[in-house]
Amino acid sequence: MVEPDFFFTQERFDQLHRAQAEHGRVLLDHDGAAALHDDPIDPDRKFGTVGAVALDAAGNLAAATSTGGMTNKQAGRIGDTPIVGAGCYANNATVAVSTTGTGETFMRGVSAYDVSALMEYAGLSLQQATDKVVMEKLLQLGGSGGLIAVDRHGNIALPFNSEGMYRGFGYVGDAPSVGIYR
Ligand code: ASP
Repeated sequence: MVEPDFFFTQERFDQLHRAQAEHGRVLLDHDGAAALHDDPIDPDRKFGTVGAVALDAAGNLAAATSTGGMTNKQAGRIGDTPIVGAGCYANNATVAVSTTGTGETFMRGVSAYDVSALMEYAGLSLQQATDKVVMEKLLQLGGSGGLIAVDRHGNIALPFNSEGMYRGFGYVGDAPSVGIYR
C-alpha cells in the first residue's frame, strides 16, 4: 500500500486544470485531438488509457489496461478499465482484449468478454467478433472508442469507431507498426 500522493504527477494535475478551465467537460483521447487542435499528439489533448495484449510462445494470452484515460471525470468514478470483462479480458482458449473509450458503455456491454464469448459460443473469427462489438453493439449503446485484441492463433484486430485511436502492433522479428487515425 502507498499514500495517495504516490500517484500524483504535476503534468496530469496541470492537464486536469487546463481541461476544467478550457472546456469544463470530460475529455477522452479519441475525440479531443483533431476536433480541437491540429496536432494529434499535443500533450493537452493526449490523456490516454494505455492497453496491451500479448500471446507468448507457450500459447498464453494476457491483457493489461491502465486507468486514467478520462480527464475531468467525476470524483470517485470507476471506469471499465479495472473491471475484468468490461475493459480488460484474456482467456487462453480464445482471445486477449484491452479496450479504450467511453467506459460506461463498455461496462454495460461487458465488451471485452463479449468478444471472447462471441468467439467461443458463436464461433465467430476474431475479426467478426471485434467488428460486431465495436462497430455494432457499442454504437447501439452510444459508445465511442475501440479495442486491441490478439487471439490464440496470433491474429490481431484493432477496431475503433471514434475519430482516432493511438495504436501499435508488432510480431517478433518484424518492425513495429503504429497508427492514430483510420
Ligand atoms: N475507458 C476509460 C474510462 O472510461 C477511458 C479511456 O479509455 O480513455 O475510464
